[in-house]
Amino acid sequence: AALVAGGAGTLAEVWGDVMRAGGATERLLELLHAEPAIREPAVPQPPLRAAQVGIAFDHVVFSYPARPTVRALDDVCLEIAPGERVALVGPSGAGKTTLFQLLLRYYEVSGGCIRLNGQDIRALALHELRGDIAIVPQDPVIFSASALENIRYGRPDARDDEVVAAARAAAADEFIARLPEGYATFLGERGTRLSGGQRQRIAIARAILKGAHVLLLDEATSALDAESEILVQQGLAAAMQGRTTLIIAHRLATVQQVDRIVVMEEGRIVETGTPADLRLRGGLYSRLADLQLSS
Ligand code: ATP
Repeated sequence: AALVAGGAGTLAEVWGDVMRAGGATERLLELLHAEPAIREPAVPQPPLRAAQVGIAFDHVVFSYPARPTVRALDDVCLEIAPGERVALVGPSGAGKTTLFQLLLRYYEVSGGCIRLNGQDIRALALHELRGDIAIVPQDPVIFSASALENIRYGRPDARDDEVVAAARAAAADEFIARLPEGYATFLGERGTRLSGGQRQRIAIARAILKGAHVLLLDEATSALDAESEILVQQGLAAAMQGRTTLIIAHRLATVQQVDRIVVMEEGRIVETGTPADLRLRGGLYSRLADLQLSS
C-alpha cells in the first residue's frame, strides 16, 4: 500500500498481498506469545487540557517483537504543531502505519519518546490517550445496524442531531437521505451495502463526532469514482478542521490539502516540506508523484 500502487494485478500488488499475509501470520504468532507489553502508568498524569494538541516523535526507534533485529523505525524525529496537517508518504514498509501504532500505544517504543503537548504518552492513562485520537482506517468496518447507529459509534452518547450534523460535515448526509429508510436504513452484511467512498465518509463522520484533538487517517488505496473522490476530500477537509492531523496519503488530492509532507523510507524520514517544495526538489516524493500522475 503506497503512493505508487498501480493497476490491478501488477506484480507489485500481488507481492504486497503476500507480504501482508506474512505480516498477519507474524502478528498471530506475536499474540500467541504475547505478554501484556503495554502497562498503564501506576499513577497516570492528568492530560493537559489545551485547545489543540501538538505531537512530537523524539528520536523514536522501534522494532516489532516478532522481528527484534529489524528497525521498523530508526531514529524518527518529527514535530507536528497544534492544528497542523501532515501527510505521510513513502513506499510500502516505510514505517507509516508503525508511527500510528506507536502513537496509539499499541506497542511501546524501543527508544526515544512520543509526546502530546509535551507529555510523554506513557504517563497518560490509555483511555485518555486513545480517547483523544480519532482514527479513520483504510477499510472502515460497517456494523449490522442503522446508518444512525453506525455513525454514533464514534461517540455513543451523542444525540441524534449531533450524529446528523457530523454526517453533514462528512458529506455523508446526502447519500444517507437517499437510502430506502434514510438514517434508519440497516447497513452491513445483511443490509444495504455501501460503496468504498460511502464507507469512508461514514468513518469520517464517526471521527468528526468523536471530537478528538488528534485525527489519524489511513487513506484507502482503491480508486474512487470522481464524484466520490470530491465528496471524500470535502469530508476530510471538515474532519481536519481545527485538529492536528496525520494522514497516510495515497492520493495527490489529499496531499494538496495538507500543510506539510513527510516522506519515509525504510523506517526513516528522508524528506519533508510543502507539496510544492518537494516537487521542486526532485527527490523521492517527486518520483512517487510522477509515477502516480502518469498511471
Ligand atoms: P504500507 O504502506 O504497506 O502500509 P507502511 O509504511 O505503513 O507500509 P509499516 O506497516 O509501518 O509500513 O511497516 C514497517 C516495517 O515493519 C515493515 O518492514 C513491515 O514488514 C514491518 N512490520 C509491520 N508490522 C509488523 C508486525 N506486526 N510484526 C513484524 N514486523 C512488522
